[in-house]
Amino acid sequence: MVDQRKIEEAVRLLLEGIGEDVNREGLRETPDRIARMYGEIFAGMDENAGEHLAKTFAVESNEIVLVKNITFYSICEHHLMPFYGKAHIAYLPDGKVVGLSKLARTVEVYARRPQIQEQMTSQIVEAVMEHLKPQGAIVMLEAEHLCMTMRGVEKPGSRTMTLASRGCFQEEPKWQDLFFRMLGEDKVFNQDLAM
Ligand code: ZN
Repeated sequence: MVDQRKIEEAVRLLLEGIGEDVNREGLRETPDRIARMYGEIFAGMDENAGEHLAKTFAVESNEIVLVKNITFYSICEHHLMPFYGKAHIAYLPDGKVVGLSKLARTVEVYARRPQIQEQMTSQIVEAVMEHLKPQGAIVMLEAEHLCMTMRGVEKPGSRTMTLASRGCFQEEPKWQDLFFRMLGEDKVFNQDLAM
């Protein structure tokens, strides 16, 4: 659980630090609003992906499962600025599958905490490997980082792509090829992400 009082105090100091009057009308409730908002955007800190991936279903044939275009919003731990985009997750079962929405829940668990995209990608693939014990899994994230596009090098529209694979997706090129074919080359860069 987030400590709301600490966050409120920090936001007040931050506003003072940039030379603002924390008592002016528009800012008076900002510390409280941000404290409550942080409870929501960092809710993943109190969550465990294992809770979402615990319930599995037996399958007789092990065919690839891909869920693509899972929208996520996260916070870069270096600048506390948002990065957001799409996650694509595939796995090759070994006798059991999980409810499709649980893969999206798993993305949320890792997105809703201070993060870096590279780490989030491997955390998701590791969670799928650990809890589903599939023959292999692969995760690709594509995101825009506001710390890159709004400040610093200021490259609006630039996307960062990260990939993590385990098991057959790492060892046998045909499975990774199938993953990319299913993603569809032209759909990898989703247009509605562009602002
Ligand atoms: Zn950053």
